[in-house]
Parts: sequence; C-alpha cells; structure tokens
Amino acid sequence: MAEFISIIVPVYNEEESLPHLYKALKDAMKKVKNPYEFVFVDDGSRDGSLGVLEGIQKKDSKVVVVSFRRNFGQTPAMAAGFHYARGDVYITMDADLQNDPADIPLLIEKIKDADIVSGWRKHRKDKFLSRKLPSKIANWLIGRVTGVKLHDYGCTLKAYRKEVIDNIRLYGEMHRFIPAIASWVGADIIEVETNHHPRKYGVSKYGIMRTFKVILDLITVKFLQSFSTRPIHAFGPVGLFLGAVGFIMGLYLTYLKVFTGASIGARPLLLLSILCIILGVQLIILGLLGEMLARVYHESQDKPIFVVKKVLGKK
Ligand code: UDP
Ligand code: MG
Repeated sequence: MAEFISIIVPVYNEEESLPHLYKALKDAMKKVKNPYEFVFVDDGSRDGSLGVLEGIQKKDSKVVVVSFRRNFGQTPAMAAGFHYARGDVYITMDADLQNDPADIPLLIEKIKDADIVSGWRKHRKDKFLSRKLPSKIANWLIGRVTGVKLHDYGCTLKAYRKEVIDNIRLYGEMHRFIPAIASWVGADIIEVETNHHPRKYGVSKYGIMRTFKVILDLITVKFLQSFSTRPIHAFGPVGLFLGAVGFIMGLYLTYLKVFTGASIGARPLLLLSILCIILGVQLIILGLLGEMLARVYHESQDKPIFVVKKVLGKK
C-alpha cells in the first residue's frame, strides 16, 4: 500500500495565507494516491490563525491542529508536528505560500528511493541583501563544515522518512541541520528543485539576526558531531600546548633569576607564562568536565556511541 504522508506546517501569524494554503494542499494531494493528513502547528499566533485552523479542522477529519501556549519558534513547532504526525513520510513546509504545495507530489515520488528529499529554491523570491546573500554564505559554510553539500539548507520544503526523524532530537533553530545530522549516520539525501514565491500576505518572522544564530548552531552541531563522546580531545590538546609553553617560559625565567640574579618581577614574559599555565589547566579541567557530561548524557539516555547497519551471524 502507498505510504501514509504527514504534511507538517508550522504557523505563526499567517491567518490570511491559511485558507489559500489549505486549498492548494488539497489540490496537490488529489494528484497522489497516498493516504495523508495535514498537521498544522500553531506556534502561539496572536492573529486569527488558530481560529482559521479550527474552522478547517472542523470540516476535514484529515486535519490535525496542535496549538502552543505561546510562541516557541519554528523548530519546536516542527518537532511538535513530528511528534503528533503518524505518517511513514513527513513533509514539512512553510505556511506563508512561499513554498508551493504543487511540488509535494514530486517529493513523494522521490522519497521512494531516499531517506530525505530536500527542496532547493533555485529561483528564490526574497530580498537579496538581507536574505539571499546571507543564505548563500550560510549554505556554503554549512556544506564545508558538515561535509554534507546541499544548495539550500534553509528551504523548509523537505520530505523525511519517519525513521530518520525518530533518531534526531531538535534544539535551538536546528531543523535546517537535519539533513547533515542524518547524513552522518548514513541517510541518503536527494535534492530537487522546487518553486518559490514572494510572500503575499503577512510579514516575514526573520531578519539578518538569524544568520548569526545559524552560525552558532553550526558550531554546536559540528562540535557535537566531532567531540560529543570525547570532549577532552577538543580542549585537551590546546590546554596541554598552552600549559607546556607557559611552563617553558617559567623555566627560562627561573633560570635567569637563579643563575644570573636578574630581576624578573616586571617582565611581561612572567605574566604571559602564568596566563598560559592557568589557561592550560583550565582547558584540561573543561575537557574533564565535558567528559563527565558526555557520560551523563549517553548513559542516562542509554544512547549508544555507534550506529549499526546490520549484524551478520548473530544467533
Ligand atoms: N514560524 C513559526 N514560528 C516562528 C516563526 C516562524 O512557526 O516563531 C513559521 C511561519 O509561520 C512560516 C515559517 O515558519 O510558516 C517560515 O517563516 P517565515 O516565512 O517568516 O520565514 P522566511 O520565509 O522569511 O524565511
Ligand atoms: Mg516565508
């Protein structure tokens, strides 16, 4: 049987778009045979969005509406959507009609032989300086750092197999990193070109500030990928190096003081030496603390430190 599709839409103050979106989604789903549901997550909207959604839900049993007590953000809204969805495949998209529901049949077709199908807004209809340029740089940077090259990490229109999402916990603004995180554990990702339209109703919820958050999230994701099971390897080497440099400088000053009788009290080198030693010790302690946290994290959740593909010959 065809797979069950859950379409997940975070909604924050989009009352005017919603009726059009719902109609377009219905039209799109007529083109496929799959059973489906729409999961709208109202992220604490302050306009009439929730009322509109409730109206839609009353008339259509395929619609699920989750409503937050306050505005938590797009990533938490998506996470809630995943939580309440019951599909085999999850498709996420924006509520503002910038993504085109007409692309959904293509995504459903492509996900048959992939774990993630990622939309690429090749002809993106947003402001160049505040949105397209930062996003180009961010995509390049994310590709470099994570090793998973996609043209458009920021495009919300993506399809995921349920199993991929089940293994990922979302924090911060991290929904855009799902493909990278999934790919590290072996998920197959395909990119498809999708339509993009300018926003007709309402206003964008983001500005240039988001770029900085994305960069910070990228650092977190990369750090966790590389060092979450061995944090001391991140801090330790720098700590050892600084400690050693400080120690050698201190040794040199001691030699001067003891064998030549020189006064070293006013030498900048003395300060530098002390600074290096203190920093070195601190960094190693930071690494040890990290090690303890890593153990608490993995052991409290029974999280394995490996991902098995298959086991041959086990009785
Ligand atoms: N959104 C949300 N919570 C927020 C901010 C945004 O659920 O705190 C939703 C918003 O309603 C839209 C999607 O996330 O459906 C993308 O937001 P927006 O269109 O403002 O972003 P842009 O297209 O400008 O990047
Ligand atoms: Mg938008």
